[in-house]
Amino acid sequence: MATHRLYYDDSYVQNFEAQVRACVPAEPMATDSGTRAAWEVLLDQTAFYPSSGGQPNDLGKLGEANILDVRDDGEEVLHIVDRELAPGPVQGCLLWPRRFDHMQQHTGQHLLSAMFQERFGLPTVSFHLGGDLCTIDLRGPEPSADALLGAQRAANQIIFEDRRVTVRYGTADQLARLGVRKEVEREGILRAIEIEDADLQPCGGTHVKATGQIGMLLVRRCTKVRQDFRVEFACGSRAERLATAEFALLRALGDRLSCAPEESLAAVEKAFAERDANFKALRGALQQLAEARAELLAGSAAGEGGLRVVAEVLRDVHTELLLPLATELAKKEHTVALLALEVSGQLVFAQHPSAGKDLAALLKQVFATFPGKGGGTHDFVRAKLSEPSSSASAIALARKLLLG
Ligand SMILES: [Zn+2]
Repeated sequence: MATHRLYYDDSYVQNFEAQVRACVPAEPMATDSGTRAAWEVLLDQTAFYPSSGGQPNDLGKLGEANILDVRDDGEEVLHIVDRELAPGPVQGCLLWPRRFDHMQQHTGQHLLSAMFQERFGLPTVSFHLGGDLCTIDLRGPEPSADALLGAQRAANQIIFEDRRVTVRYGTADQLARLGVRKEVEREGILRAIEIEDADLQPCGGTHVKATGQIGMLLVRRCTKVRQDFRVEFACGSRAERLATAEFALLRALGDRLSCAPEESLAAVEKAFAERDANFKALRGALQQLAEARAELLAGSAAGEGGLRVVAEVLRDVHTELLLPLATELAKKEHTVALLALEVSGQLVFAQHPSAGKDLAALLKQVFATFPGKGGGTHDFVRAKLSEPSSSASAIALARKLLLG
C-alpha cells in the first residue's frame, strides 16, 4: 500500500487526520537535545514532506509525538517520531513556518533556474535548500555579474506580477508537448509544476500557489564547484533577514570608520592608503635610526687585532630595526655585527667582506650550544633561536668564538 501524499494536491494542508497503519521501534535518533529513542510510523495519508529533491523534510507533531524525521521510502512515507503511537486515528500538525519557508525557497528555485536557462542558456544541474542559504549549480560558462543580476531581476519581475503556480499531471510525452524542460525517464503519470507563462518542471516538492508569496529573491555570490557554478540565493523572509543583517554589518562598519554606511568603502580605501603611507614613513625613520645607531655602536666598539665587533642584544626597539642596523654596520670596514632581538630570539650576523670571517660557520658553532634555525653566507646569516631568553648568552658566545 502507498501512503497518500496530501501535499501533492494541496501544499497548504497544515492539520490533517490519518490512520496509523504501523508503528515499530527504529534506530535511536541524534537530535539537538541528545540521542532519543525513535519509532517508525506508517500512515494511510500524510501532509508531511519527506526529504527529497533538495528540499528538507517537514517537522511537527503526530498526536503527542514529535516528528524527528520524514523519509521517502518508495511508495511510502516513513515518519520517525519520538514516542510510540497506537494504531488507529491520529492528528497530524505541521510546523508551518518551516514548511512555508521551504515552499518559498523551492518555488524561488524553479523561477531562478528558469531565468538562467531561458535568458542565459545555463541549465540547473542540482539544488540544495540549506538552513541559511539555498544554492543551485549551473552548468556551462561562468555567469557574469550582469547575468546574475539579470536573472535576479527577471525572477523578481515575475514575483511582482504574482503569477499562478499550478500542479499538472501527465505522461512524459504529454508534459514534453507542454514544453517541460527536463528530460524525464520515469514511467506513468508524472507531476509537474507550472509557473504561468514562465516555467514547467517535473517536481514532487511543495510550492507556493502564486509567485507573489515568494516575497522576493536575492542572488548572492557565485563560486566554481568542480565543473559547475554554484549560485547562492535566498527568498522570502530569508532574503529580508539577510538584507537586514548585512545592512547592520555595514552600519557597524560605518560607525567604526566614523562615516555613513554607504561611505564605508571609500573610508576603508582611505584608511589603507594612510596605513601604506605610515608604513613607508616608518621604513624611512627606521633607516635613519639604523644609520645613526650604527655610527654610535661602531664608534664605541673596541677594535681588536684590526677587527671591530659590535655585539648587541636589542631591547625595546621596533623589530624591523634589526636588519637595517646590521646592514649599516656591515658597510663599515673590518666590522662584524652580531645582533639579536631579545623579544623573539632573532639573530643577524653581518660583516664587511674585509673582516674576513665565516659567519655561517660561526652560526653553526653557536647552534651547538644554543639551538635554532637559520643560515646564510660567509658575510651574512639570519637565524632564530629556539629559546629567545638565550639571546644574550648566544651573542656573548658568538663574540667569544669570533675573537677567540
Ligand atoms: Zn519543485
